[in-house]
Amino acid sequence: MIAAGQDSVPERSRLADGPLSHIERDAAEWFAAPLPRKIVFEIPLSRFRWPWIQLGTAPNPSNNGGPGNSGLGGSNLKIHEYQAKEILAKYGVAVPKGEMANTLEEAIEATRLLFADGANGVVVKAQIHAGGRGKGGGVKVAKTREDAELHAKNILGIQLVTHQTGPAGQKVQRLLVEETAAIDRELYLGIVLDRATGKLVFMASQAGGMEIEEVAAKDPTAIFKESIDPAVGFGAWQARKLAFALGLKPTQINAAVAFFQSLYKAFMDTDASLIEINPFITTKDDKLFALDAKITFDDNALFRHAAIKALRDTAEEDPLEVEASKYALNYIKLDGSIACMVNGAGLAMATMDIIQYAGGSPANFLDVGGGATQEQIEHAFEILLSDANVKAIFINIFGGILRVDRLATGVVAAARNLNVKVPIVLRLEGTNVEEGRKILKDSGLDFQVGATMKEAADLVVAAAAKVGA
Ligand code: GDP
Ligand code: MN
Repeated sequence: MIAAGQDSVPERSRLADGPLSHIERDAAEWFAAPLPRKIVFEIPLSRFRWPWIQLGTAPNPSNNGGPGNSGLGGSNLKIHEYQAKEILAKYGVAVPKGEMANTLEEAIEATRLLFADGANGVVVKAQIHAGGRGKGGGVKVAKTREDAELHAKNILGIQLVTHQTGPAGQKVQRLLVEETAAIDRELYLGIVLDRATGKLVFMASQAGGMEIEEVAAKDPTAIFKESIDPAVGFGAWQARKLAFALGLKPTQINAAVAFFQSLYKAFMDTDASLIEINPFITTKDDKLFALDAKITFDDNALFRHAAIKALRDTAEEDPLEVEASKYALNYIKLDGSIACMVNGAGLAMATMDIIQYAGGSPANFLDVGGGATQEQIEHAFEILLSDANVKAIFINIFGGILRVDRLATGVVAAARNLNVKVPIVLRLEGTNVEEGRKILKDSGLDFQVGATMKEAADLVVAAAAKVGA
């Protein structure tokens, strides 16, 4: 044991010879404190979501669309309806005949072809990464080519607002033009991971076409569920049970079983995280179709699905997060005023905590990673500074693989190139820390360096408050 105030730590825990580092001094203080030791830092969990369960997706608080967006899952790649239907069609799932259109001309041509092929009408559908398009005016049925053209003109390019997009809406950059179906019944199908049981669950409901979240809240018994044993897979008997629960006609049961099994196979083969068919329809002539289709994929499995990875549409994602992902930076925008640049997710979490503890609030989570290059650091700066809420920047680095001198060089270059005006506070430890400090000092730029994490946090909170005042 070490007595309080004694400036030494046991030999075993020394990181290097020479004078004590701040970390070692902090550790010494901790060990020297009388028992029971008080935990110094509280963790204000409620202020932000754990970033590592959200990395890679834009956390859209207004998007409560379906189980795949609960915020409880891993990161999920979203795709458009027309892309989901193309995938499902390959697995033998019946989808209406249709064509994606990027321009009005393409929409007109798609319409012409569908009518020439014998369609009685077409439906013009906005392609955005959000549901509720029908209610928002993004799905329009047309009986003639002229009407279809009018709808396409009206929908293409607008900011479509639905209950899942938030008030700003989402710009419609593509349309899907499809042959209309003579709908008899609108039903619901979904496959999703049930995290409570750790199993996939196949859901079906007669209450299709509407918001399934509402059905689940008001009348959960209206949703039938079959839990899927991972060792056995989705049994035909389970598919039959669901088909009967949907009240399908005897003449539809076998086709429905095949339909459900194809959906399950598509889910498994593509490492999907969600498949939702709402509505799944029956037609007046007894056919079954996926009239709408939503699929999301588990990001962690994308490395083995190059074709699916290529379906990503960054126009639908948060621009800053897209920019960050280009440089392999883990960035999540938050709503505070202190930008953080940190190496390592754990240190990033601790940094956000200590900013809170010092009375401030973090503007983002940013992990530049263990081996960040100078170029990455410059890009990280650009991204931090594009956030208008940022009043001060806190750089908290423990130099391991990332040498502190290299970090300092990057910071100085970025501050010069970008003509950074907001105050920058650093807390640096680790490999080549002295060289790093010297680079900052010799730059002639106005950096503040905190001796400890707490001191740096206090400095940056004070700096932000000054700017804000
Ligand atoms: P969402 O509102 O974003 O989920 O878009 P959907 O693709 O589910 O379309 C919304 C609604 O439009 C559906 O529930 C149907 O009632 C209607 N709809 C979509 N396609 C057709 C079609 O081909 N014919 C008819 N009559 N209605 C359609
Ligand atoms: Mn739908």
